[in-house]
Amino acid sequence: MANEAYDYDVLVIGAGPGGYVAAIRAAQLGLKTACAEGRETLGGTCLNVGCIPSKAMLHASEYYEAAAGGAMEKMGIKVKPQLDLDTMHGQRKDAVKGLTGGIEFLFKKNKIDWLKGYAQFTSNDTVDVAGKAVRAKNIIIATGSSVTPLPGVEVDNAKGIIVDSTGALELAKVPAHMVVIGGGVIGLELGSVWRRLGAKVTCVEFLDQILPGMDGDVRKEANKIFKKQGIEFKLKTKVTSAEVKGKKAVLTLEPAAGGDAETLEADVVLVSIGRRPNTDGLALDKAGLELNKRGQIETDHDFRTAVDGIWAIGDVVPGPMLAHKAEDEGIACAENIAGQTGIVNHDVIPSVVYTWPEIAGVGLTEEAAKEKGEVKVGKFPMLANSRAKTNHEPDGFVKVIADAKTDRVLGVWCIASVAGTMIAQAAQAMEFGATSEDIAYTCHAHPTHSEAIKEAAMAVTGKPIHI
Ligand SMILES: Cc1cc2nc3c(=O)[nH]c(=O)nc-3n(C[C@H](O)[C@H](O)[C@H](O)COP(=O)(O)OP(=O)(O)OC[C@H]3O[C@@H](n4cnc5c(N)ncnc54)[C@H](O)[C@@H]3O)c2cc1C
Repeated sequence: MANEAYDYDVLVIGAGPGGYVAAIRAAQLGLKTACAEGRETLGGTCLNVGCIPSKAMLHASEYYEAAAGGAMEKMGIKVKPQLDLDTMHGQRKDAVKGLTGGIEFLFKKNKIDWLKGYAQFTSNDTVDVAGKAVRAKNIIIATGSSVTPLPGVEVDNAKGIIVDSTGALELAKVPAHMVVIGGGVIGLELGSVWRRLGAKVTCVEFLDQILPGMDGDVRKEANKIFKKQGIEFKLKTKVTSAEVKGKKAVLTLEPAAGGDAETLEADVVLVSIGRRPNTDGLALDKAGLELNKRGQIETDHDFRTAVDGIWAIGDVVPGPMLAHKAEDEGIACAENIAGQTGIVNHDVIPSVVYTWPEIAGVGLTEEAAKEKGEVKVGKFPMLANSRAKTNHEPDGFVKVIADAKTDRVLGVWCIASVAGTMIAQAAQAMEFGATSEDIAYTCHAHPTHSEAIKEAAMAVTGKPIHI
C-alpha cells in the first residue's frame, strides 16, 4: 500500500496495549507503520502504571499475607515473614522494565518507527510530533485514559498522602490507615495490596454496593469476603473534600442522599473513582473530529471515526476500559485498514478483579439478562469444589446464566482463587455460542477449580453432582 505522498500507511498515536498491538499487526500485514508515544517507555498505562505493576504488587503481597496471616501454617509451613518493601518495589520495577523493553524489541523486529513525543493533529491526515510533521494514510487514535479527578481532592503523588493509582503503587512505606475513595476494581486491588502488607483500609463508595457493573450476587458476596478480610466499607457515602494536614489527610464524608457530614483521618488517601479518555492536546478539531458527551471518540463497528482515514480504539472509545479489549480492537482495526475483516465481539469481553479470591465475569449479569427475557441460572459454591476445598480456598461460587428457551449461555460469573484463569473457558464457550449443556457435557480435568464451571452449568438444568 506504500504511497509516496504519505510518510506512513499507518500512524498509531499511543503505544498502550491498543496502540502497540495495532502497530505490530499493521506491520505484520505489510503496512509501513509508525507509532507516536510521548511516554519514555512503550506499553501505555497497562505496562507502566496499570495492569502489570499492580499485579506485581498483588502477587508479592499475596505471598506475604499467606505467610504472615497463617494460611501457610495451616499446611504445615511455619514462617515468620519480614517485609522488605524496597525489594518488593524492585521486582515490580523489574517486571515493568522487562515488559516495556520487550515491546521496544517487538517494534524493532517488525520495523515500526517509534516517534518519540506527543502527537497533535494539524489536519485530517497529518500530525505534529516533537516539531516534525508526519503524514499518514491512516491514523489510529489509541491515546488511552487517565485518572478522573475528584473535585475537592487534590492528588499529589510526590507527597504520597493523597495519591492516585500510580502513587498508590509506589508508596515508600505501609500506611497505618489508607482510605480508598471508590469501590471499583482498581481501588479494591490496590487497597488489598496495602491491607495485606499491614494497613487498615477503609473504602468509601458513593453507590450502595462495591464493584459497579458486575453481577449483583457477585457484588454482595465480594463485599462480604473483603469485609471478612478486614476492609471497612462506607457505602452510600461521598467524599466532599480531603485536606492534607501535616503528615495526614482529613476527609469530609457525607451520606450520598444528604445528611450530616463526618470527618475521617488517613495516612494515605487513594482516589480511584474511574478513568477518563485522553483527548486533550490532540487538537481533534484540526482533524474535524468531535467527542461524545462522555468525552470519548465514537467509532463504527470497524473502528472508523466520523473522519475518513482516522480510526480509534481502546480506552479512548466507548466500552470497558480493559487492556485485552484494547488489544483485540487494535488487531481488528489494523486488519480492517489492510482490507481484511477485523471483528471484536463486544458482548464477550471478560473482566477480572485480581484480588483474593479473584472475581471474574463475562457476558451479561443476571439482572441485565432478566431484562432481556427469561433465564435459567445455575450456581455452584467453591466450598463443594474438591480442589478449592483441599487448597483451603472455600470462598466464592460460579454462576452460569442461560437463556431459558435456547439454553444459550448469556453470562458466567466466578469468585474463586483462580477465577481470572477460569473465565477464559467461559468466554471461549460463549464465543462459540455454547449452551449450558455444552459446558456441562465437556470433560473437565479433576481436581481443578474449573470443574465448578461444569457443575454450575449442570445446575442450570438442576443436576449438579456435588451439591
Ligand atoms: C492501576 C491500574 C490497573 C489496571 N489493571 C488492569 C488489568 O488488570 N487488566 C486490564 O485489562 N486492564 C487494567 N487496567 C486498565 C488498562 O490499563 C487500560 O484499559 C489499557 O491500558 C488501555 O489501553 P490503551 O491502549 O487504550 O491506552 P493506554 O494504555 O492508556 O495507552 C495510551 C498511551 O498513549 C499515550 N498518549 C496519549 N496521548 C498521546 C499523544 N497525543 N501522543 C502520543 N502518545 C499519547 C500515553 O502516554 C499512553 O502511553 C488497569 C489500569 C490501572 C490504572
